[in-house]
Formats: sequence, structure tokens, C-alpha cells
Amino acid sequence: MQQACFLSVVVPMYNEEEVIEVTYRRLKSALDGLGETYEIVFVNDGSRDRTAKIVRALCEADDTVKLVDFSRNFGHQIAVTAGMDYSSGRMVVLIDADLQDPPELIADMVAKWREGYDVVYGKRIERKGESWFKKVTAAAFYRLLRSMTSVNIPVDTGDFRLMDRKVCDALTSMRERSRFIRGMVSWAGFKQDSVEYVRDERFAGETKYPLRKMIKLSLDAMTSFSTKPLKIASVLGFVLSAVGFVYLFVVLYQHFFTSTTTQGWTSLVAISLLFHGITLSLLGVLGEYIGRTYEETKGRPLYLVSEAVNFSGASEESDR
Ligand code: UDP
Ligand code: MG
Repeated sequence: MQQACFLSVVVPMYNEEEVIEVTYRRLKSALDGLGETYEIVFVNDGSRDRTAKIVRALCEADDTVKLVDFSRNFGHQIAVTAGMDYSSGRMVVLIDADLQDPPELIADMVAKWREGYDVVYGKRIERKGESWFKKVTAAAFYRLLRSMTSVNIPVDTGDFRLMDRKVCDALTSMRERSRFIRGMVSWAGFKQDSVEYVRDERFAGETKYPLRKMIKLSLDAMTSFSTKPLKIASVLGFVLSAVGFVYLFVVLYQHFFTSTTTQGWTSLVAISLLFHGITLSLLGVLGEYIGRTYEETKGRPLYLVSEAVNFSGASEESDR
């Protein structure tokens, strides 16, 4: 077992060759300012560029730098989990590699921790340099999620946060594959507080979260923390059959008491299209849940590590 340090910083990276050295330097100076022991755990999430090479060089020069190198791209939330698995600090800070989250804020988070908080998350009061589309969809997503779940997930927060070791251990003991770490931290409870910050522009490079990954994360969040979409089926079914029942009386009345029996074709097609549409989308909702249940039952490891650099002791080869 490695000797525990005061603070571990976990940095997930996917094709971040343009930023990683600057990130390292800024992190390093922010952490040196704390006057405590620390480690920086970089997780290379299957980058296809020079990211791993650069971090390996950093590892050689500085043994507070550690690298967990994945066998392929497993996704941001899994990369963060791996970093937490490998970390040993009394507290763990999760931070993006692109300097959108200011490392200088870690000092404020640590100060809150000293006041007795177990989780200190960064709350974005402003997002700079992100597209109109991203801001609107993110704001809508946080609010929709909030209205659907019973877990109180704070709005406008990302994964940038500090967690006490006991919270980190609670999270790493949950081995579910569809991971939405913000939600899991809220679910875990403990004493939580926030520090506010302005989210900067990405330092360099492009977002590694294309629409496809954003949709996956949102679906993971919804399905992991709410079964409301499933309940929509029964509510819709009830409402629609009530409407159908009323319409039946209208039709019968027209048939027996008036001479204007509806020709019917248009309404039949309309109704059939409507119902088929609804049925198919509800099947899709079921599919989202069943697919995830299937993935979980396979019980595969969350990730595979091809190499772990600068970790002393037995954790070298393991791929928990
Ligand atoms: N990331 C990752 N694996 C992925 C996608 C992203 O490890 O498959 C990392 C990325 O390198 C960055 C963080 O997750 O450190 C957040 O990604 P990004 O900044 O591109 O997202 P955005 O800020 O645009 O939402
Ligand atoms: Mg970013």
C-alpha cells in the first residue's frame, strides 16, 4: 500500500496534448501553495495523440505525478472513477484537463474541508467561451434532471469538486457502469457545500464532449436516478384511453342521432400515427433501461489498464 498523502488530484485526459503541460504547471504551483503533500493522478482515457507520452515524461521528472493508462477510450466518468480508485489522499479533487476549472480554487475548497465539509463542489456562476447551444442544453438538462429525480443534484455544477476520503471510498464502492458522478455524490449525502467560480474558456483544443457523448451522459443520469420515464407509459396510457372513451360516445351519438356520420379516413390515420408514435417512443424508453440492465448483469470490469506509472506497491497491474 502506498503512503497516504494529504490531497490527490484526478485529471481525466482524452487527446489533451495541447494543454496538458500547462495544466500540470498551473496545478503544481497551486498545489505547492498549499504546503501539504499531494499527488496528481492523470488518467489517459485512450488518447490517440501524444498525451500519454507527455505525461510519462512528467512522471520521470516528478514522482508526485502518476499515470493510469487505459487500454482504450472508456469515457470521462469511467476515467474519473479509475483516478479515484488509484488515488490515496485524505481528500480527492476532480478537475478537467483543459483548465476550464481554475486550479487556484482548490485552496478555497481545502479551506471549506477544514471547516468540516466532506464535499465541496464548484458552482459555475458564468460559463465563458462555450457555445450558445451548449449553455442552453446544459441549463435545460440540469433543470429537467432536477424535476425528475428524488436525489437533490445541484444545478450548474460539473465534476470539479473536492471529496473527503470517506466520500471517495463510498463512490468507488459503487461499481455501476452507467455512471453520473455528480448524482452519485449527491446520493451519498455527507456534509456538502459549494464554492462559486467563473468557468473559463478551454485553454486549447476542442471539446471532447460532442453531442453524442452529451446525450449518453444525460441518458445515464436520467436512467440512473429516475424511473419517471417508465411511469410516463402508464400515465399516457391512462390519459389516452380516457380520451378514446369520450370519443367513442361522440361517434356513437353521431351514428344514431345525426345523419353526418364521419367519413373517418383522416381521423383513423391520424389516430393510428399518433398511437404508433407513442408506442414506439415508449418502447425506446424501455429499451434504454433494459439495455443498461443487461450491461450491468455482464459484470465486466469498468475499465482495463494497460499500465500504471509511479504507483509504488501492489496496485501496478491491477485493473479493478
Ligand atoms: N474526457 C475524457 N474522456 C472522454 C471525453 C473527455 O477523459 O471520452 C476528459 C477531457 O480530456 C477533459 C474532461 O474529460 O479533461 C472534460 O472534457 P471536455 O473539456 O472536452 O468537456 P466540456 O468541458 O467541453 O464539457
Ligand atoms: Mg472542458
